[in-house]
Amino acid sequence: MADYIEAALAAGLREFGVSDHGPAYFFPGDHPCPGTQMALSELPAYVREAHELKARFADRIAVKVGLEADFALGREDDCRAMLAGQPFDYVLGSVHWVNGRSIFDRTRWTAEDAGETYSAYYELLIQAAGSGLFDILSHLTAVEAYGPPISEELSDRLYSRVAQAVAASGCVVEINTSGYRKLGGDEPFPNRKLLRLLVAAGVPLTFGSDAHRPADVSFGRERVTALLAELGVDASRARPVNVRRGPILAVNVPNGAIV
Ligand SMILES: [Zn+2]
Repeated sequence: MADYIEAALAAGLREFGVSDHGPAYFFPGDHPCPGTQMALSELPAYVREAHELKARFADRIAVKVGLEADFALGREDDCRAMLAGQPFDYVLGSVHWVNGRSIFDRTRWTAEDAGETYSAYYELLIQAAGSGLFDILSHLTAVEAYGPPISEELSDRLYSRVAQAVAASGCVVEINTSGYRKLGGDEPFPNRKLLRLLVAAGVPLTFGSDAHRPADVSFGRERVTALLAELGVDASRARPVNVRRGPILAVNVPNGAIV
């Protein structure tokens, strides 16, 4: 984690959140997903180390201690129990699993009706937004990374519902540049089409590079700045917006939400 914070300093960031993948609390056992998610028993040590680094770097950069937590419908109490008692500055809410399979499992698309999977994913996102568990919703539209293109008609219908639900939830949405890495194209997560609706709905937006190595920290910031300008949002005007656990630096912050 210290290497990531050093990378953030080198990139000139004034605020930086660390958010490792939280435990897969919705599967049995202490460590059901080695390699992608920490063990349940590792969580306290992770939080302790992150807070030590926050204090150590405090005079150079504002470090925020976060976690990327999965949303699992029907398991909200288990998620709440996992987060309880841990001093997080923020929690990212992610939908990684739809119908028991990872959204990044490329093999799923050979046998599935993509429209049904996309509908189920966006329904879960709407539930995640309204769950009250999260401060920031992460990598919206990531489900489409490896699947067939979504139809205009379906995205029109689903995205407008997502934008309304997210706006009503008060959550911040991250603009996640792993979309550029995963797709190799010009779309972050969420893609332009959903981002435009989120901007119009007054949803505050923050930046996330989804760094899985220190060299990824701040990846794609200039592209996101340009994309926001295209959508009429000035990325240099980031302000803190109060979410459940505390303030998050964001753009497109509506009046009255500033701390
Ligand atoms: Zn994720």
